[in-house]
Amino acid sequence: MYSFVDTHAHLIRNVDWAFMDKIAGSGILEQAWLMHCPCVSGGIPFATEEEVIECAKRYPGMYLPFGFIDCTKGPSEVERLKEKGFTGLKAISPVRAYNDESFFPVYAKAEELGMPILFHVGIMAKGFWKNMESPGFPGPCNMKPSMLDTIADAFPELQLIQGHQGVPWINELWEALYYYPNISCSVCGLVDYQWLMDHLDDRDSSGNAFNQRMMFGVDGLYGKAEYWSNMEETARFMEEFFARVGRTRAWGRCGKDFMKENALRLSQNFGR
Ligand SMILES: [Zn+2]
Repeated sequence: MYSFVDTHAHLIRNVDWAFMDKIAGSGILEQAWLMHCPCVSGGIPFATEEEVIECAKRYPGMYLPFGFIDCTKGPSEVERLKEKGFTGLKAISPVRAYNDESFFPVYAKAEELGMPILFHVGIMAKGFWKNMESPGFPGPCNMKPSMLDTIADAFPELQLIQGHQGVPWINELWEALYYYPNISCSVCGLVDYQWLMDHLDDRDSSGNAFNQRMMFGVDGLYGKAEYWSNMEETARFMEEFFARVGRTRAWGRCGKDFMKENALRLSQNFGR
C-alpha cells in the first residue's frame, strides 16, 4: 500500500495521543488535513480549535490544521484563525449561499494570507446543522458546487478545495475543473465512482488532466484506535480502484497521484 494524504480529516475530543504516536510512526499516513468543525456528529463531539492546533504542533508537517470559518464574522475571523496557527479554512452549512457577495471580504483575506479553503459542497447529513455550535442552515442548497466557480473567478490566487464532489450536482464539478485551475477536489463521503471512471481522463481548458486535481480523503475520525481501520480500508480500496478498474484507462496509472502526490503538490503552496 502507498502511504497516503488524507485531505479531509477530523479530530475527536480527548485524543489518545499514544495511538496518534503509533499512526505517526507507521509510515502509512503522510499528511492529514485536519478540519475543525464545531459540532457533534453521530453523538461524537469533535475536537476544539485548541485540540486541533495541539495535534498540528505535536506532529509538525503531518497534520495541517483547517479552522472552521463562519463567513458572517468577516475578515477579522480569518486573521484570528491565522494567528492561532491554522493553515487553512473549512466552510460548511453557511447561513447564506457561499457566493453571497457579503462573504467576499472573507475570501479576499484568505487569498491575501494564502489560506486555502475547503468547502463542503452538496449532500450533507440530514439535520447536521442542528448539531453545530455556530449557526447553520438546513439542507445543501447554500452549498452548490458552481458557487465555488464564482469565488474562484473573483479570487484567482485563492486555493479552493471542493469537498465531496458536490453530489448530487456532480456535473458542476466538471465545469469547476474545466475552467478554474484554483479549484481542486477532495474525494470522500458519498463518492460517485462512475463519474470518476468517466471523467478522470478529461482535460481542462489548458489541456491538463482532471486526474491531477483530484485527491484522496476519508472524512473519518482521528484520535482513537477504533476509527483508524476506516482510513486503511478506504485507502486500500481506492488504490485497488485505480489499479484494477482503471487498468485499461490512462487514469489507472495515476493512483499514486490521487493518493498523495496531487495533495502534496498543493499543500507545498499553502501559506504563499
Ligand atoms: Zn468532514
